[in-house]
Parts: sequence; C-alpha cells; structure tokens
Amino acid sequence: MLPERGPHGHTAAAGLSRLLGTRTAWTAVGDGEFFCPGCGGDRNYQRLTGRRRFTLLGVPVLPRGESAPTVECAACGRHFGTDVLDHPTTTRFAAMLRDAVHTVALAVLAAGGVCSRASLETAAAGVRAAGFDDCTEEQLAALVEALEADTGRFTGEPCAAGLAIELHEALDPLAPHLAAPGRESILLQGARIALADGPYTPAERDALATVGAALTICSTDVTRLLAAARTPS
Ligand SMILES: [Zn+2]
Repeated sequence: MLPERGPHGHTAAAGLSRLLGTRTAWTAVGDGEFFCPGCGGDRNYQRLTGRRRFTLLGVPVLPRGESAPTVECAACGRHFGTDVLDHPTTTRFAAMLRDAVHTVALAVLAAGGVCSRASLETAAAGVRAAGFDDCTEEQLAALVEALEADTGRFTGEPCAAGLAIELHEALDPLAPHLAAPGRESILLQGARIALADGPYTPAERDALATVGAALTICSTDVTRLLAAARTPS
C-alpha cells in the first residue's frame, strides 16, 4: 500500500518512514540468571546478538551491521546492555555476604590464638545472622583449629598469609556492590569478635586491617572504626 500524499512535507516524510525502516533479527547466543533492573528481581535472561537490516515496506533488503550485544529479560522482555550482568543476582549477593562474614569471623578468631568462649559466641551469632543458620561455636572452633594445624605446619606462623588470601577472595568481589555502611558493618562485626575477649592484640589489628583493605576502606577510616568499636555505646 502506498502512503497517502498530503499537502505538507512532514506527511510525506511520515509516509517515507513507513516505506523504509530498520529491523533487527535477534539470535540467542547464551542464557543464565541475572538481576533485572527492569522488573527488579532475579530472572532468566537470553543473551542476544542482532543483525540490523534496512527494510522496504517491512521487507529486509540491506544488511546494516550488528547491533550491540543485548540481554533480554525472560520475565519482562526488556532489553539491556551486557553490563547488567556485572551486577550479582540477589541470591548470589546474599551468598557473597554470608561467605564474607564467615571468613572475617574465622580470620579474627584465628588471629586471636586460643578462642575464648566469648569470642566464639560473638562470632557464631554474627555468622548465623548473616545466613548460616546452623553455625555453632563448636564448628567455628574446629575450623580455626584446622586452619592453624594446616598453615602453622608450614610457616610456623599463625596462618596470617593464608587468611589474607582467603579474606581477599571473599571480600574483593563483594566490596564494589556494597555501600560504605555495608562495608563498615562487616569490619565492625570483626572488631566486635576481637573485642569479645579483651583489647585488640597486634595480630587481631593486622587481621582487621586486612579486612578493611579488602573492603576498600581507607586506613584512616579503619583506625576510626576500630576505635569506635572499642568504645561501648
Ligand atoms: Zn525483567
């Protein structure tokens, strides 16, 4: 059907755009789960590549190159750039947070040497609150003992180096997705475990400094937060 020809120029242009256009043919190249910023939740997605073509009367005629890779939400159908995949799903984020709290608790307990009942209770309560519902004081004590047996055997030192690596592995991927109060609260939980059996020891300070650095909290703020944790509020 030919467009109607009106007396004004823009009517003719509108008619032309109905004649000519571009159409994108999408091909699915992968799928997975992501956090959809469109409908706000963990959803399945398809990763799409598209080939654009000029169309004449709706019929593709000329290739016009590739469109940017696109992610399509299976629930709302909206399209996004692939950078949305950098954002962890809610499930993944919760798991990262839980692992972070668990690793920080172990690092601080191990730095403290022999675990007092008070430190273990503070640590286990924090780990349970973070999502490991059935974490017990005994489990943490056993893990700390195993860590010490494992690393102390080689270095003669209390597992500092090995734990620094563990801390970075658990905290580095999490830090960019947490706002400052979230990062500070993980450090403060560690500080409370260290303080449960008395003032910070040098090894506990070192462990907490490593936690702060992995969470990208600057050393001035780490010092301020560790002092604040010591002051009973
Ligand atoms: Zn969606």
